[in-house]
Amino acid sequence: MYYKSTRDSSVNVTSAQAIAQGISKDGGLFVPSEIPKITFNDIKNLGDMSYPDRAAFVFSKYLTDFSEAEIRYCVDNAYSDKNFDTKNICELAHLFDGTYMLELWHGPTCAFKDMALQILPYLITTSAKKIKLNKKIVILVATSGDTGKAALEGFKDVEGTQIMVFYPADGVSKMQKKQMITQEGENVAVCAINGNFDDAQNGVKSIFTDSEVENELSKNGFMFSSANSINWGRLAPQIVYYVSSYAQLVYNGKIELGEKINIVVPTGNFGNILAAYYAKKMGIPVNKLICASNSNNVLTDFINTGVYDRNRKFHTTISPSMDILISSNLERLLYHLCGEDDSQIREWFSSLYDCGKYEVSDEVKDVLRKEFYAGFCDDSQTKACIKEQFDKYSYVCDTHTAVAVKVYEDYREKTKDKTKTIIASTASPYKFSNSVLVALSEIDQAMDEFELVDKLNEVSKLDIPKSLAELKYKEIRFNDTIEKNDMKAFVLKSLGI
Ligand SMILES: *Cc1c(COP(=O)(O)O)cnc(C)c1O
Repeated sequence: MYYKSTRDSSVNVTSAQAIAQGISKDGGLFVPSEIPKITFNDIKNLGDMSYPDRAAFVFSKYLTDFSEAEIRYCVDNAYSDKNFDTKNICELAHLFDGTYMLELWHGPTCAFKDMALQILPYLITTSAKKIKLNKKIVILVATSGDTGKAALEGFKDVEGTQIMVFYPADGVSKMQKKQMITQEGENVAVCAINGNFDDAQNGVKSIFTDSEVENELSKNGFMFSSANSINWGRLAPQIVYYVSSYAQLVYNGKIELGEKINIVVPTGNFGNILAAYYAKKMGIPVNKLICASNSNNVLTDFINTGVYDRNRKFHTTISPSMDILISSNLERLLYHLCGEDDSQIREWFSSLYDCGKYEVSDEVKDVLRKEFYAGFCDDSQTKACIKEQFDKYSYVCDTHTAVAVKVYEDYREKTKDKTKTIIASTASPYKFSNSVLVALSEIDQAMDEFELVDKLNEVSKLDIPKSLAELKYKEIRFNDTIEKNDMKAFVLKSLGI
């Protein structure tokens, strides 16, 4: 197994190279040269395995240049009950009538990003060792909230790494800010930028591509790598939980081996739902992949019409992690769907770059409609859905997950399809206490982030995640706010250069 670039099919690298490098030099994303298969017998065997064992099995199919011991080292460090509040790592909760919530938020930062970011540091450092980079890896992240904290928790105190996170001073929620400025670990730094998310993102990009910085780093034994969702090392771990939950449903007698299921995913950058697509192509029996969007419904339109058009109004919603108009992982799907035609991908994506728009071929449109169903809902529908689920099933979902539940309800209504279904639940409701409470009851706008958490606990009776409860007593470690032009100096100073 090797990895090709979506923009140049002649690229041919090992998984270690793909993960250490992050993105291909031609600007394309790394994809596996073939999608490995699993059999029904494999699925049966996975049934009574632990999550780390299931992960090791899936990784052995994709990271064929890793030894068994290297894979074990990665999965055992990442998926333990030191980091997750359940031994199962993720949970399947029955909601109604053959519909299961796949709770992916039992990790340290209470969002599904932990599923990949807990293991990525081990995958990156192991990859770097394998290809003899012999450098300390520096991770730079610009964040609008969830990714930054999940990356900090993943990389904290991981030997051979340093991580620096920049966030917009006025662009993250109070809880997200608290999570970041109290971050523990000897190899971490966090800094606010006077500016918005784009300023932080552009600042990070310009440091990444600054050859002077690169030279300085190299002289001092450092190199940059990327923790964002285009790295294959973030996608592969997401395939695991779809394979794992299918095996679990079979094992628990909830479905027959071979029975098809639907998978519903609240989608932003298209990483999570793409992982479900890979699981299907590996041999997990899947009927429809249901792509749920908020008012930023560029993917809904794309799947329904074959025209991707980012020239539209950007909406700030109560599901901010899905407020995205360019879904980068879509490029991987299209590469597979168009018969791995790299020149076709270059054409579509340069059109996206130049005019914000492209239209795929009729063949690709047909496959898209066959494999996927797409829908969206707005904030008021999202809130109504949170309330409805709570009233009917005493189940509280966060704002992102509620988008998925609502789109799934619309799908069932429209198609009458009763196929058993998994809905990806991507964040703990406590992470978005304010919006969830607004949906469930009256709130006092003067409440601070911890009063909101207590109030949600009172209303919902759901346990407060320990990591959020403990924040209240944590010492503030990172109080810097800098101008965006000073980011480069901050990076060099933090590295002692
Ligand atoms: C990142 C995120 C999403 C979107 O996932 P993609 O892989 O970007 O499609 C959905 N919900 C939450 C809570 C997230 O943090």
